[in-house]
Parts: sequence; structure tokens; C-alpha cells
Amino acid sequence: MTQFNELGLADPILRALNEAGYTQPTPIQAEVIPALLQGRDVLGIAQTGTGKTAAFVLPILHRLAGLNKRPAPKTCRALILSPTRELSAQIRENLQNYSAHMRLSSALVVGGLKAGPQVKVLARGVDVVVATPGRLLDLVKSRALSLSQVQTLVLDEADQMLDLGFFPAIREIVSMLPADRQTALLSATMPKPIKALAHDLLTDPKQISVAPVSRPIERIEQSAILTPQDAKRELLLEILSDKAVERAIVFTRTKRGADRVNKHLVAFGLKAAAIHGDKSQGQRVKALAGFKAGSVKILVATDIAARGIDVDDVSHVVNFELPNIPESYVHRIGRTARAGKTGVAVSLCDPSEYDYLRDIERLTGHEVDKAIVGEEADFLAQARAASGASKPKKSRNRRRRGGALQSGNSQAGHSRRPQADTSGKPQRRRRTRRPKSAGRPQGSGVEAGAI
Ligand code: AMP
Repeated sequence: MTQFNELGLADPILRALNEAGYTQPTPIQAEVIPALLQGRDVLGIAQTGTGKTAAFVLPILHRLAGLNKRPAPKTCRALILSPTRELSAQIRENLQNYSAHMRLSSALVVGGLKAGPQVKVLARGVDVVVATPGRLLDLVKSRALSLSQVQTLVLDEADQMLDLGFFPAIREIVSMLPADRQTALLSATMPKPIKALAHDLLTDPKQISVAPVSRPIERIEQSAILTPQDAKRELLLEILSDKAVERAIVFTRTKRGADRVNKHLVAFGLKAAAIHGDKSQGQRVKALAGFKAGSVKILVATDIAARGIDVDDVSHVVNFELPNIPESYVHRIGRTARAGKTGVAVSLCDPSEYDYLRDIERLTGHEVDKAIVGEEADFLAQARAASGASKPKKSRNRRRRGGALQSGNSQAGHSRRPQADTSGKPQRRRRTRRPKSAGRPQGSGVEAGAI
């Protein structure tokens, strides 16, 4: 097995790695670091949890460690683009940790914060800019930053950037970079537009794909509750009131859904906070900091907001709504059982989502343990009706193709509004029982990503 000190990284970097307790590179690091150190472009298929951040950050630091000159005013030497403010902040935090023994300047250039302080930092010139594409483009256009000195470009979570509509901005940014730069593109999935972008941006890249293998799905205790939609809130309160819940993430499909669920939990005295793209930067930072520190016990999140968030000790993941993309389920439940721990994932599945649950089981090869609220025959009849009414075969096939057609805010199959909760406190629990068809989880070869 390769050790970090065999990769030829500069001493200050090895010292920082040593202090972080990392001696062995993860599989993606073992492949990406040597390729980038050789000056090659890289196309990496990897998701959060594989150690991909250090894979591209360490070679950038190595290159900068050899330079004595300060960057010129209003320029930067390396540019890292990511889809969200949170992920950018996290990457910068990694950058600062790994460069603790170097003189390195960096700037976080993201929307949702005042531009003034960012402009001020850039005025002096910085080694590394970590940015979201929109704000970066604004500051380049207002001449706060020139991209003419960029030697390394990293595009992280490219598929999320595609989903968020950042590709035109990315292409505009790239058109301003020197042609002889080094480029790394990382993405969890490789739909056609990303392949096309990679083809345009990368020169003879080393292609690296790491299966997210190190956190077996078997370590996550998965179950689903088949339930009418209007019983979900009550069930959610029950699940989250369990003493075993130390820290939980509740996933909703829409931003408004996240707000509604959060309000409900807070009204019942739970320490919850919502995190999604419509929240202000301040609100998002506060929610995340509270969650990491433990003052917020429950984070209600959409897929995109939670993607890339690296918090250990999440004991429970609850899918208040099931994702219509089965791969998203694997990403979601992979938020728990991190760092060698076990985890619990519970999905609340109404009849209109039953097809999604079956798609998930097909993808993972793992039958989820099921319980039912109400009559099984009623649930299955409604599920059949919903399947026939709202999801013609064509759209199901398209969903299964994965990735390219993602729509995190899709309301498909959710035409009924949740019933207003007028009682002011949880209603009596409905009868919950295991349906005849429920089976024990079967072993699967599919694993959720991480270290
Ligand atoms: P990432 O996929 O970059 O989000 O990394 C996931 C987690 O793995 C982070 O908490 C990193 O600090 C941690 N990590 C990165 N590299 C290593 C390594 N070589 N050994 C152990 N943990 C690591």
C-alpha cells in the first residue's frame, strides 16, 4: 500500500497530513495525486466521502510550496470551482488545514456574502481562489480579479454545477484562463454534457473512477414506512423523538417542503434548522455550525444543499420524501454511518412514491425492511393508481437512466397537499404493522460512498 510520504509531496504538506492522522492515501488520492504532480489533466468520477478534496488540493499546495514570489495584485494562481457556498467553504477549510505549515493565501468567493470584503482580499492577489461560478464571474467582470495567471483549474462536483445551470458561466470563465493551464474535473456521475465539457477542457486526461466502496450499505439499518401522505408529519415526530436519535438529517424534495417540515418540528419543540438554496448565507452557515456543534439536532435539507456536507456522527437519515432518482437515495443515506459508525435510515413512502422505493431496491439490490400504516391492500391499490396516473413507463425508464435528468425540485407525484396540522400537538399514532411482503434486508454488493 502506498504511503503519503512515497508520493513526493513537499515536507510542510506531509507534516500537516501527519497531524491530521492521515498516513495512507485513499484510492482516489493514490491515483490523482501522482497524475497531477506529473502535470497531467485529470477526469475523476468520484463522490463526496472518497477523499477527493485532498486529491486535488495537495498537488496544488505542492506546486505553490515551491514558489517564493507573491502573486501579483488582483490575480490568483489556482482556481477551484464548486457548486455551493457550503462546499466551497469546506474546500477552503481543507486547504487551510493542509497548508498549516506553509505561507499560503486564499480567498473564498461565493454569493450570498457581501462582495466588498472579497474584493479587498483579491486586491492583494492570492494563491488560491475557491469560488462558486456566479460570484466569481461578477468579480472578474468588475475587474476585481484577473484570471490571466491561473495555472491550475479544478471543477468539483461538475454534475451538480450542471444541475444548477452553471455551465454557461463555467464556459465563460474558462475562456478567460490561459490555455496552458492544468485542469482537473471531478464529478459523481458522467452524463453527456459533462463528457462534452471534459472533452473541451481537458487535454489527454488521466481518467480515474473510484467506486465508493469503503462504507458498506449493510452498516446502515434501512427501513421504510409505507404510509398515507398526511400521516408523514406525525410519523416524523415519532421517529425523531426517539432517544437513539443523536443527530439527524431529514431530506425533502423541495425547498418549500424543507421549510414546512422544519417549521413543524420547531413548533413541537425539536431543535431543528432548515438548509437549502433559498436561505441566506448567514442562515446556512448558522444552521450548519449549530449542527456540527450539536445545538441543532436535526437538519432539514434538500439534496443539493446537503451534498458534500461532511459531518460525522449523523445517527439517522430520514427521507420525508423519497427521491425520484434512486442514486440520490444512496447519497442521502451515505450521510450516516460515517467514520466507521453504524447508522439508521428511515424512509416515509406514500403510495405515489412506491415506484421510487422499488427503483431504489432494484439499484441497490437490497430489499428495504418495511412497515405499514393502515391497510396494505389500500396502500397498494393507491400505489397502482398513482403509478398508472402520474408515471407512464417512459418517465420511469428515463429516471432509471440516472444523472442527466435529475430534477431536485420535481413535484411529480406530489399533487396532494399535506393536511394542515390543526391540533397543535401530535395526533394519536395510527396502526403500524409489517406487510406480508416485507422481508429482512438481503446482503448486497452495493455500498454507499465514503471513508
Ligand atoms: P472528501 O471526499 O474530500 O469530502 O473527504 C471525506 C473525508 O475523508 C474528509 O473528512 C477528509 O478529511 C477525510 N480524508 C481525506 N483523506 C483521507 C485519508 N487519506 N485518510 C483518512 N481520511 C481522509
